[in-house]
Amino acid sequence: MEKKKVTLVIPMYYEEKVVEECYKRVKSNLEKLTKYEHEIIFVNDGSKDKTLELLEKIAENDKCVKIVSFSRNFGHQAAVTAGLQYVTGDAIVIMDADLQDPPELLIPDMLKLWEEGNEVIYGKRKSRDGESAFKLLTAKMFYKTLNALSDVEIPKDTGDFRLVDRKVVDTINTLPEHNKFLRGLFSWIGYKQKAFEYERKERFAGETKYPLKKMLKLASDGIISFSTKPLKLIGILGGVCIAISLILLIYIIVNAIGKFNYLSVSWPIITAITFFSGVQLMTTWIISEYIGRIYDESKKRPQYIVDKKINIE
Ligand code: UDP
Ligand code: MG
Repeated sequence: MEKKKVTLVIPMYYEEKVVEECYKRVKSNLEKLTKYEHEIIFVNDGSKDKTLELLEKIAENDKCVKIVSFSRNFGHQAAVTAGLQYVTGDAIVIMDADLQDPPELLIPDMLKLWEEGNEVIYGKRKSRDGESAFKLLTAKMFYKTLNALSDVEIPKDTGDFRLVDRKVVDTINTLPEHNKFLRGLFSWIGYKQKAFEYERKERFAGETKYPLKKMLKLASDGIISFSTKPLKLIGILGGVCIAISLILLIYIIVNAIGKFNYLSVSWPIITAITFFSGVQLMTTWIISEYIGRIYDESKKRPQYIVDKKINIE
């Protein structure tokens, strides 16, 4: 019987301090999997340090190592997306270069879950060592907001670290949308999903390559590509404005009839401004609902994904 193959996809951005250790640890663990062949795809996301040089040296001596190198930094999600285009394995593991997701236990344990028939096995962080309180808090807020806003449930405390079946990767590769928010798509795509809990370690060396700016970009990609709910906020705001103006109007009328208080001439003006602001927001909202539909269509996600067909050619 032909051996099954495991593919690792590892993005790297200024990781010269971890390249060698990463390769060594990953390779020795893959070699232990005698039942499987393997390949490792490193994606150099435009690092200008020694990352690429070190990777090339590794690839010279090990034909299982493949390298995709970007012309400049396009970001983590783009790097993983690119790596997925070149996989030839049956089971694909996406992991970070910094060994925060230790390959020792994970690869064999996740593979076991895959052999049992699970198709998306996502790493769920039980604990996160060595990460700042700020990162933990913002991560928590992000998943809360994302799940409140988006239409698919995106499990919290999961990153992109996961093992997926080849057919899932093939489906992801057919999606034409740009700015892929992968962990959202892997959740949206369905198939047999399974959480795999693990302890997230500290970075092996170097610093996080996710400064606040990149985190915000990731967060906005996540929210905007999975939700048009922010557009609805415009409508709600418009409704609130109109409601306030009506209350003001009633107040003015009651006052005018009963002659309770002297009201200056600015009251009707404020009321009118509030009312017409509300009207404008409502019309903007109507337009934005159409834009939302256009946006949904433009992502060209399939309406459904068929997993099996029986008695159908
Ligand atoms: N990364 C990348 N491009 C970027 C930023 C990060 O390819 O623009 C890679 C990085 O080399 C690492 C992974 O994405 O392999 C996760 O980054 P990092 O460990 O810095 O993020 P954190 O674990 O701090 O969230
Ligand atoms: Mg990391």
